[in-house]
Amino acid sequence: MNSERSQRIGNGHGEKVKGGVRKKSGLAHRKSLNDSLEGEVKAFLLDEGQLHTYDDLTKVNPVTPTTVLKCLQARYRAKVFYTHAGCTLVALNPFQPVPDLYSLDVMKEYHCAPQPQESKPHIFIVAEEAYRNVQGQVEPVNQSLVVSGESGAGKTWTSRCLMKYYATVAASSSLMKSQDTVERIEKRVLDSNPIMEAFGNACTLRNSNSSRFGKYIQLQLNRSQLLVGASVQTYLLEKTRVAGQPVNERNFHIFYQMMTGGSDEQRREWKMSHDQHFAWLPNAEKTLEEDCFDETVEAMVHLGINAEKQGHIFRILAGLLQLGNVIFCSAMDESQPCDLEEKSKDFMHRCASLLCVPVEELQTCLRVRTLRAGKQSALFKPCSLADCSVRRDCLAKVIYAQLFEWLVTFINDSICADNSTWCNFIGLLDVYGFECFQFNNLEQLCINYANEKLQQHFVAHYLKAQQECLLNRASDAKQFRVRLEKELSDNGSMSWDKFSKQPHFTVAHYAGKVSYQIEGMMEKNKDPVPPELIHLLQKSENPLLHQLFADRDPVGQGTRGLRQVVTVVSKFKNSLENLMKILHSTTPHYTRCIKPNTDCRPLTFKKEEVIMQLEACGIVETIHISAAGFPIRIPYTSFTQRYGLISNLTLFRQGAGEQGLEADNKEALGSAVADILRVVLSHTLDASRHIDNEARSSL
Ligand code: ATP
Ligand code: MG
Repeated sequence: MNSERSQRIGNGHGEKVKGGVRKKSGLAHRKSLNDSLEGEVKAFLLDEGQLHTYDDLTKVNPVTPTTVLKCLQARYRAKVFYTHAGCTLVALNPFQPVPDLYSLDVMKEYHCAPQPQESKPHIFIVAEEAYRNVQGQVEPVNQSLVVSGESGAGKTWTSRCLMKYYATVAASSSLMKSQDTVERIEKRVLDSNPIMEAFGNACTLRNSNSSRFGKYIQLQLNRSQLLVGASVQTYLLEKTRVAGQPVNERNFHIFYQMMTGGSDEQRREWKMSHDQHFAWLPNAEKTLEEDCFDETVEAMVHLGINAEKQGHIFRILAGLLQLGNVIFCSAMDESQPCDLEEKSKDFMHRCASLLCVPVEELQTCLRVRTLRAGKQSALFKPCSLADCSVRRDCLAKVIYAQLFEWLVTFINDSICADNSTWCNFIGLLDVYGFECFQFNNLEQLCINYANEKLQQHFVAHYLKAQQECLLNRASDAKQFRVRLEKELSDNGSMSWDKFSKQPHFTVAHYAGKVSYQIEGMMEKNKDPVPPELIHLLQKSENPLLHQLFADRDPVGQGTRGLRQVVTVVSKFKNSLENLMKILHSTTPHYTRCIKPNTDCRPLTFKKEEVIMQLEACGIVETIHISAAGFPIRIPYTSFTQRYGLISNLTLFRQGAGEQGLEADNKEALGSAVADILRVVLSHTLDASRHIDNEARSSL
């Protein structure tokens, strides 16, 4: 990665970065950069004893990757985990419970503070700021809290803290009745977490409770700013995990919860013998905090998933575990369908019985392809051994993904307030961070694309706030556009490696270069499910399984009546575009979670690892931009309301807030902003990477 970065930097154009460092080429540049860095560090070190007192990194002088890193390290050592970085809050993961950091008293303290921003940096400042902003000066302004960071950095933990904060400070007296219980709405909103985490999280090499899906939850507030409901949108569940887990990782928590928490009676019902080993449940001997079946079941009850529905769900899941143990073998006569290994016959029977489908049909579907020859007749072709396993895995994936979707819909039905009762929302976004593995495929492309979009949104939003004052002439915009085109003409962010054995292409993302394998990508995008499998599931006598596929068109794969091919990418892109529209219509607040060491060890700060993360999210540039902007930030609406009259009237129409921009100007500025940012960012990021590489070698 380093050498790739140096190569990119080597091709760079000279540019200025804050602190007067100009990029040159060759040794001269390296020496001057080193001298300059040393000087900066020395000047900074004079203040070393006070480093932990810097609540806001914009106050650090000079701002360089090294000084920012040292400051964060000093704070971490002093057990101070939150630091402002201009418009962003940096959250360092302590990897151990911190007593009283999130207690009720602390919540009250931030909620009641006349100026919470003046209190010690804390996630509750972000929460409270959004809560106060939502009321707006003119009309309510919806808010979004965007939490980002790499796997294990603390996004989900942070989102949970935010939800608890609102469930406390905005608690309403609303009660909601489900079939078995009457619960307060805030409790039910919080109860959606253990369910979604049980079905959507798994133990990976990087995080024992890793979210394998993205989540955007809108907390709905009424006119009195009380929490009256919520709605959840999820993105791209990693369904492949259900039928295959990377080495030393686990399947979704729910399966292990059933194994460890199910009663004897339930295990009998699920046809699990006590010593049964499941191929799709690796590392089952490792018991985790997350293996809490009772908590999941209790949350299900609170949300209205009654015992009968739970029974259907768990039988389906148990059926999948049996399916995972089915192994095919070649038939003596090659013209015949593959056989089943002796032991697998029993697993196949148990699976069919749990999924409530006829066993013969299940076996046929997995081993024989049906080819339609005209409307009436059909041809049958035995599948190859490899194809049989592909079909088995495909069956598990499609069932699990559909079940997850059903759960999300159910949760939404259970916690979503009536439209007439809520008027604005605070959205919490917890999406998977940037991923770069040894082998990257469609999943990583989608995830990194989402991160790219979010980074763009962050940058565009932030610069937009600055350009009220920095850019208001069309010629500036043009100049930047010309510059952008010039810069990018020979600097495409995508390159093809035509000569490697496995064809792949490389994308230079904001967070680093990632090479994607082409092999298998198209297939993953189409994500075909053999129609025979859908037909079979539609016949299931498990009412839930039947319901999951009742509306599905077996041939077109979409909902009946809508015969267009929906690819994974097109679906993901659409949902991401909708998310971006929502984010653009809200006032965003950003929190960057940082993982201080890859081993998840408490209170351990690894400089090399932290600097990579700071670099990936461009935190130094954020601090520069924040420091260069006005020290006082007023929400856009309030600004236009207060100063609209004295500002350039072609830009603002008094009192109308965001809509106050004249359409033409707005468009020109909007695209200009995006353009400038690409230029600014590509420059500043390159420059900072260069410094970082130097800094890293001096660490
Ligand atoms: P992924 O992308 O894999 O889902 P994530 O960013 O959501 O990762 P979390 O699951 O939120 O990561 O955090 C990982 C672990 O770090 C948590 O299970 C918890 O043990 C610890 N952790 C995170 N934040 C805190 C905190 N503020 N205080 C104490 N422990 C924390
Ligand atoms: Mg998570």
